[in-house]
Amino acid sequence: MRFSRQLGRTLKDAPSDADCASHRFLVRAGMIQQVAAGVYSYMPMGWKALKKIENIIREEMDKAGGQELNMPSLQPIELWEKSGRLASFDKTLFSVTDRKEHKLVLGPTHEEIITDLVRRSVQSYRDLPQLPYQIQNKFRDEPRPRGGLLRVREFIMKDLYSFDADEAGLDESYRKMVQAYKNIFARCGLPAVMVEADSGAIGGKDSHEFMLVTESGEDEIIYCLHCGYAANAEKATSAKNPGPKEGLLPVEEVSTPGLQSIDEVATFLGVKHAQTLKSVFYTADGQLVFIVIRGDLEVNETKLKNLLKCIDLHMASEAETQAAGLVAGFASAINLKGYKIVADDSIKLGTNFVAGANKPDTHLKNVNYPRDFKVDTLADIAVAREGDQCPKCNGKLLSQQGIEVGHVFKLGTFLSERLGAYYLDKDGASKPITMGCYGIGLGRLLAAAVEQNHDDKGIIWPLPIAPFQVCMCPLKIEDPAIMQAAEKLYTELMSAGIEVLLDDRPESPGVKFNDADLIGIPLRIVISARTLQNSSAEVKWRREKQPIIMPLKGLVDAVRKLVKSGGSG
Ligand SMILES: [Zn+2]
Repeated sequence: MRFSRQLGRTLKDAPSDADCASHRFLVRAGMIQQVAAGVYSYMPMGWKALKKIENIIREEMDKAGGQELNMPSLQPIELWEKSGRLASFDKTLFSVTDRKEHKLVLGPTHEEIITDLVRRSVQSYRDLPQLPYQIQNKFRDEPRPRGGLLRVREFIMKDLYSFDADEAGLDESYRKMVQAYKNIFARCGLPAVMVEADSGAIGGKDSHEFMLVTESGEDEIIYCLHCGYAANAEKATSAKNPGPKEGLLPVEEVSTPGLQSIDEVATFLGVKHAQTLKSVFYTADGQLVFIVIRGDLEVNETKLKNLLKCIDLHMASEAETQAAGLVAGFASAINLKGYKIVADDSIKLGTNFVAGANKPDTHLKNVNYPRDFKVDTLADIAVAREGDQCPKCNGKLLSQQGIEVGHVFKLGTFLSERLGAYYLDKDGASKPITMGCYGIGLGRLLAAAVEQNHDDKGIIWPLPIAPFQVCMCPLKIEDPAIMQAAEKLYTELMSAGIEVLLDDRPESPGVKFNDADLIGIPLRIVISARTLQNSSAEVKWRREKQPIIMPLKGLVDAVRKLVKSGGSG
């Protein structure tokens, strides 16, 4: 490709709203262009990189037994009514009304369509398993599109769905997909970690995410180096410190004038945070829920939301708390009636806690569960943090930031039951098909690749997904000797199957070098009057500082070997 002919140019300045490296560099390198909030065009060079990712994904899906098909973006809303998922997608769902006043949905995902498709196509256990997939555009009306390609409203996704006769079949399909995902990220040159993920309120058994570790990532990964435990912070658990076991003492009222926070009360009474019980109020789908958790821990809202199976969950406002008749700062579950009480299982770890007395300026000492209060639900609803103890071994948990680039999910049978996807087993009995779903956002992966691979000058593409393998910079194109040598090498490299971007623009060396760094092609070849004097060229990996001087004779072979080795690029 000749740079001078390319549609789209490099820009000096990043968009003013660009707050992450991938957004800044992909726009400045002329690889993507914004059309509307969260809506982007891929320019030729960006599209080339995306196609490389797509090809790797397609090859690995096919190798794992996937069958590619294509389903429409326009989906009848009736299928969504049948699946019961309208409420959970709520405002993120784009919908349109056709000329006959019939409502359709712009697909944010395709479980509904594919389950209906399989329902019509699969009759017996002999037709299973099936692993259909597609690579296609999805639509989600994100409330705050941002970060360039990281959070958009129209995006390209690979979505595969597994249909099996039973759980054992699903486990096997899941295992195949996990392996395929590991292959994909390895082949893209993007180290990813697999973490346990939240599987949502509706459920499924197992769910894992694949994360690219990068400081700018918006997801937190909690992990243990000892045993390999790794989970998304939304899902992560920790072994809660057991607390002291003492003989149970009688409940005692203490005056705590004006002391509302756990900090103030613990300091005043000279006890550790873990020796107190904290009350937190939430509103779940309009109903107040009373939460009890040990004072040293925080509530994990994802866990709470899943436990309550609610759609809307937020901390109760002051007005909501007052309306419920609760004494903020001094509330506790003791003698409390008329509220749903949910407690973290940490309340069982420890004895003789300090808790609110449900009247102003007063706390209680020596509160013990279950002697002094009852709860409706007891479960793990606590946040796991760095420094906590690993739930699987005695190691210390660590934390790092990452970007989610893939998700695998065991759905089970709830969708096939709702949408009527049944098959006949060996004995002729009708059974719901067991499902799984497996997604990779391609644009998100492209952006995450840039987040993981850049410096202050620009992108540093991993070789397997770089738009070109070589960027050739002839300096001073008005010098016929230089251009002849460059054209000759360009043709020979292309004949050898190497992808070359030839910077044939009449620009200064400084501009060419800056753009080469910005665009981030792994290998740069410079031909100048000076290199020609020695019948050589200057070859440099984007990641390295120093170029290597190589003779023009045999250069094509040498470059082919470098590209094959992957080098340090
Ligand atoms: Zn561990």
